[in-house]
Parts: sequence; C-alpha cells; structure tokens
Amino acid sequence: MRAFFSRLQPSYISRDDLVMSLRITLWNEFLHEQHDPAVKAIYPNGIHDTLAEAIRQQIPTAHIHTATLDQPDHGLPDDLLDQTDVLAWWGHKAHNQVRDDIVEKIHARILNGMGALFLHSAHFAKPFKKLMGTSCRIHWREAAEPERLFIVHPAHPIADGLPTHIDISHEEMYGEFFDIPTPDELIMLSWFQGGNVFRSCCTWTRGKGKIVYFRPGHETHPTYHKPEIQRIICNALRWAAPTSNSPYTSRATHEPQPLSPFPH
Ligand code: ZN
Repeated sequence: MRAFFSRLQPSYISRDDLVMSLRITLWNEFLHEQHDPAVKAIYPNGIHDTLAEAIRQQIPTAHIHTATLDQPDHGLPDDLLDQTDVLAWWGHKAHNQVRDDIVEKIHARILNGMGALFLHSAHFAKPFKKLMGTSCRIHWREAAEPERLFIVHPAHPIADGLPTHIDISHEEMYGEFFDIPTPDELIMLSWFQGGNVFRSCCTWTRGKGKIVYFRPGHETHPTYHKPEIQRIICNALRWAAPTSNSPYTSRATHEPQPLSPFPH
C-alpha cells in the first residue's frame, strides 16, 4: 500500500488523536480556476490549494492531500480513500463526469466511517445525492448579493469560536426549498438581501460516517479566503472525523445462533 499520509490507521483512535493528526483529502473539480480568468485571479492554484493552505494554518498537525477530477481515478485511488479520515468535496459543472464506480467507493467508505464535507455546489455532487437519497435541488440566483450567515446551534463543535453571525458582502444566493432529508443538526441559516433563506450548514450520519454540508463558496467570490469561513471548514473537518471503531458493518450478517438460548 502506498503511504499517502505518514500514519496508518491504528485499531483505536481517540478524538484527540485524530484532531492531532487528521488525514484530510480535499477534492476539487478544478475547472473554473483553469478556464475562467476571473476565478483564477481569486484562486490561482485552485480552490483546493487555498483551502489546503488555510487548513495548514489552523490545524498544523493535519496531513492534507489534494485530488482533482482530471487525475487518474479522479485522484482518489483505493489506498488513498482507505487512509482518509475526512474527504472534502467541491464540484460544480462536471458532476456527471465523476465516475460511478468511484462514487460507489466513496459511499462505501463513508458508511464505514470516513467523514465527508460537501461544499457549496457539491449539493448536487453524485456522492452527496447518493447519501441523501433526494433530489438536492435548490433555488439560486447569481446577483453577488450580501449574505448573512446566522449560527443557530451555538453549542455545536462546528460553531466553535464563531460570532453570532457572519456577513459575506457578495455571494451567490441559494434559497429554500433545499430538497434534502431533514438534517440531524442544523448549525447555520443564511439570509440573503434578495429575501431568501437557506439551511447553510447541516449534518447527517449514514452508517458510521458523519456528513456535513456547508453552503458558501461560489467560485467568483473570494469566500474561502475569509477567516471565519476557513474556521467553519476546519471545525467541520474535525467534527466529521471518525471517533472510534464501533462494531458497525455495512454488510448483512447471517446470525443462525441466537444470542440467548431459546426457551424449550
Ligand atoms: Zn456557485
């Protein structure tokens, strides 16, 4: 097995251990940045590179790997996925180019404990839609309007260190109805100047995996350079990390012998 990260998975990992050496894979479609000069000006080496640098600053012990659509296997070979604690995903215009067999592998890894953070237009990414089981459709408007992001679950670890609300001067509008299953936890709610609201930070679990959706991050705005947004992303990566090797298995188990003897 190739060593993408310096540490192999031990048999038991405490939460603190993971926070100390979180293995993060940042996946980016990486098309807008190469083809649109306005986006390249904001993210010269790609959104994934900007996020990687921000995470290095805020979680210096993290091991960070980046992967993009155009790489073999979209940069996500089995042994990398096997060594990833949390996968972050940004995609927009090439969702349909993501290979179904790789989506299946990602889905299986999440059920078995890998955390996942879906960013902005990844609400329509194949792995997210498969996890949700709904259309994941939204209302949207590209008007570069102000967004106010309210923390509505201040006790949640993803809200740690944040103010009561965060103002983003220019963003794309995403509005309700957002066709997702009711989230296990709603952490943030967005208001837009045009009058729409949106559930902007939500969590779910599937199998043993923890899943976060976080809305801001349209490619033509410098949202991922904003320290509060970077803080949220780092908090979400920490929260989504696997915390234990619980006895969950995604395989069906034939159990012919009863756990307790049947009375005769
Ligand atoms: Zn967008």
